[in-house]
Amino acid sequence: MSESSNGATPQDVRNVIVVGSGPAGYTAALYAARAELKPLVFEGSVTAGGALMNTTEVENFPGFPEGIMGPDLMDNMRSQAERFGAELVTDDVVDVRLDGDVKEVTTGGGETYRAHAVILALGSAYRELGLPDEKRLSGRGVSWCATCDGFFFREQDIVVVGGGDSAVEEATFLTRFARSVTIVHRREELRASRIMAKRAEENPKISFAWNSEVVGITGDTKVEGLTLRDTVTGETREMAATALFIAIGHEPRTDLVKGQVDLDENGFVLVEGRSTRTNIAGVFAAGDVVDHEYMQAITAAGMGCSAALDAEKFLAARG
Ligand code: FAD
Repeated sequence: MSESSNGATPQDVRNVIVVGSGPAGYTAALYAARAELKPLVFEGSVTAGGALMNTTEVENFPGFPEGIMGPDLMDNMRSQAERFGAELVTDDVVDVRLDGDVKEVTTGGGETYRAHAVILALGSAYRELGLPDEKRLSGRGVSWCATCDGFFFREQDIVVVGGGDSAVEEATFLTRFARSVTIVHRREELRASRIMAKRAEENPKISFAWNSEVVGITGDTKVEGLTLRDTVTGETREMAATALFIAIGHEPRTDLVKGQVDLDENGFVLVEGRSTRTNIAGVFAAGDVVDHEYMQAITAAGMGCSAALDAEKFLAARG
């Protein structure tokens, strides 16, 4: 039988279980712990700490004027939640039963834990190109977030991969910093809305590599160049670039709750108004599993705080 850091056993019916360990999950855990709710947190077995574990410097999380490394920020959040009594379990939740007064979550280790409230902070995964050097150079020129990393590439030559609205939006945003931005797209026209596409086409800093895909990333410690393949002729060519922004979509991690919690047409958890309440009483959701608009550590943390406060109110009302 597995135990949490504070010795919780599956037999107890807890006040609140948090599933997820990014900024949303740890912030929910911190607030719930300080409200004396003794939250039990499932962090995941491989990706504990969430998306920021895969990055280097975070310069836009308030409170760190010199910036902070992503993994250090997450370690701090984790320790802060633990300090106030959050119980952390480094295991995946593989099954949930969310209806009824007592909710159940089952871990990869095969144990079932129970609680009156559950906070879903599962995050979302950016789609990757699937190239061998993509992970290695993540945070070293390879990025999925222009808002987060654009600032690092002033007066440099940047490539954005994708053809939809988000790729065009990222490319347009990046022209504030870059010397040049090249949009690499597999087809010969953008999928983005006409108005967005026109704006990009008229931007003197943006050019297009049509019918092209990125098939290689070069650089020892940071991105130095890319290999492109023509999707029509199959020919490859090299291109100098110091940053690659991948904007081919992202997927919320909602497989676990599909069929139980209401999701929108893109699979994100639906919440009531500005709250974190889902369609199931006692089940709350926060962070990138809900939010496909802002997708920042600080907004995820803010929603985690709201989820803990919503859960606290729910538990107080049930008496
Ligand atoms: P996540 O951080 O994705 O955390 C969710 C975590 O929950 C998962 O990683 C996993 O550990 C756990 N989990 C999921 N499912 C389960 C399960 N079934 N059982 C147990 N555990 C589970 N934002 C910024 O504000 N500034 C930046 O500089 C910045 N840089 C970024 C760099 C990169 C490379 C990436 C990918 C993102 C970056 N972001 C940045 C975005 C930011 O990381 C996210 O918006 C934020 O982490 C979302 O937080 P979250 O808590 O919703 O989810």
